[in-house]
Amino acid sequence: MSGRQQKNVKAIILVYIELKKGSQVNSTALNIRRIQERIAIAAENCGRSAEEITLLAVSKSFPKESIAQAVDSGVRKFGENRVQEAEGKILQFDKSLHLEWHLIGHLQSNKARRAAELFDLIHSMDNAETAGKLDQACKDLGKILPVLLQVKLGGEETKSGADSHNVHELCEAVSNYKNIRIDGLMAIPPFFDNQNDARPYFAQLRELGEKLESEQPGCLGRRHLSMGMSHDFEAAIREGATIVRIGTAIFGARQYDG
Ligand SMILES: *Cc1c(COP(=O)(O)O)cnc(C)c1O
Repeated sequence: MSGRQQKNVKAIILVYIELKKGSQVNSTALNIRRIQERIAIAAENCGRSAEEITLLAVSKSFPKESIAQAVDSGVRKFGENRVQEAEGKILQFDKSLHLEWHLIGHLQSNKARRAAELFDLIHSMDNAETAGKLDQACKDLGKILPVLLQVKLGGEETKSGADSHNVHELCEAVSNYKNIRIDGLMAIPPFFDNQNDARPYFAQLRELGEKLESEQPGCLGRRHLSMGMSHDFEAAIREGATIVRIGTAIFGARQYDG
């Protein structure tokens, strides 16, 4: 090959790489940028700092490749709703990436041990029995695992979550465990076409947190409010969300209903 030909081949390869990159300023990367902008605007609109709000990318039903694209865009925190499905993905990422994995789906007590090994935060703590199993598993692992108490707000259709009048008891029970630490509350309000209709639910969770804290200062640790999904996170931010859990708006439509 002549020098000129070599240069041409090199140029073609460079164009090809650019094209590849172009197609990889993929929808995931664009979606993440848009969501980050919307989070910043929502925060600004209610006098909050965007830094107070953590974006949790909900990767349930999506493969390792989708997660890798989000990692390339700077996302480090991922939410999964099933222990077994999550395990297959988590183990494929190098520890040096310092990814954080959050369990957002119901935790069965027989999966507590595996969950303790895999996850950095459990959003869905909703009963004292599973909390006990998780505590024991964390003790064996020599780790202290933060959890959020999942609350079932009035009118919700979700099966999981502690009833709001039982949360005080749950809070007290979980507070007694030494190897898990309560760091706030989580809820999933019903779906509304207009996200403003979800605001009273988000407000209810915030007020519940304030009430628990006033009765027992410090009981909610970092006082996280995990609330807001693709269709309603702006309303959640307005009511004080500190973690928004976004799936569809980042990765697209899911293959199964999770
Ligand atoms: C699936 C799921 C989400 C993400 O929902 P999207 O509407 O796709 O953003 C958030 N939280 C929980 C608990 C979920 O199960």
